[in-house]
Amino acid sequence: MGGQHLGFIGLGRMGGPMAGRLMDAGHELTVFDTNDAAVAPLADRGAHRAASPREVASAAEIVLTSLPTPDIVERVALGDDGLARGETIKIMLDLSTTGPSAATRIAAGLAEHGVQWIDCPVSGGIAGAKGGTLALMVSCPAASFEAIQPIIGNFGKVFFVGEKPGLAQVVKLGNNMMAAAALVVASEALAMGVKAGVDPKIMIDIINVSSGRNSATQDKFPRSVLPGTFDFGFATGLSYKDVRMCVDESEALGVPMVAGALVRQILAITGSKYGWESDFTCIAKLIEDWAGVEIRSKTES
Ligand code: NAD
Repeated sequence: MGGQHLGFIGLGRMGGPMAGRLMDAGHELTVFDTNDAAVAPLADRGAHRAASPREVASAAEIVLTSLPTPDIVERVALGDDGLARGETIKIMLDLSTTGPSAATRIAAGLAEHGVQWIDCPVSGGIAGAKGGTLALMVSCPAASFEAIQPIIGNFGKVFFVGEKPGLAQVVKLGNNMMAAAALVVASEALAMGVKAGVDPKIMIDIINVSSGRNSATQDKFPRSVLPGTFDFGFATGLSYKDVRMCVDESEALGVPMVAGALVRQILAITGSKYGWESDFTCIAKLIEDWAGVEIRSKTES
């Protein structure tokens, strides 16, 4: 399991810790991020700084990306100074939530330059990225899967979804829709409880051993809503992007997403009110505001 020379672009909340884990595992990294502050911790550990995606793609055969939006992923892949123009790259492995349409388009653009696209969206948040406990969903040709499996094994549990570009993205969009929906309905139920006079900590404890439990009650509420910190680590703008893509892709497939469309509107309102950079647990803040209560624990955890 000797170290390889890998490229990494997008060293934010998720990409930073994942790149760090690759260095821990003995890989040599060439990195790029438009925000210099994001590069610094890795450069301090010996990662090579590149000035563009193209430069990264001239240093490494496999380049990983963890970028905010599909249009940014597309620009980094196929833009003037993009990965496709690098001299060494063979594989672009995208860890971002990019959606199936953009993934299919980018895969075709890269293929014209002889570069293989691999979808590898992840779930598990910053804690999962730091601890190597993410779920990784992969779609790519079986032969490429062999090459990247030992690398992404550093991030958590790997699932092969299929060979078609974008297939793993469909799974990821479905997951993120469900996570956002859980946050919305849990916020409504908890606001109701508080308004009626229930301690929300007691209500969460009961729900977490009852049939209503979900990722919001088990993780987001205890960590970021009950203490009032709203700092889970996933931006409202990114959640809105995922949910928007999910509804659009679903409708394009002829599958109505009625409840999903409501979740999309709640996120649109949350972003307008608290800003797109706010944490997506601000969904609960929005419902608190409407209900005229705060979902804060009165007892010790
Ligand atoms: P982030 O905003 O913290 O990080 C993105 C990084 O990309 C930033 O450092 C930014 O400076 C950099 N960047 C932006 N434009 C760039 C460009 N043109 N070239 C190079 N670098 C550029 O976002 P994040 O929370 O780390 O999310 C990254 C991806 O992972 C997103 O697609 C998101 O949907 C997905 N994701 C996030 C989480 C989470 O909990 N945060 C969980 C699973 C998946």
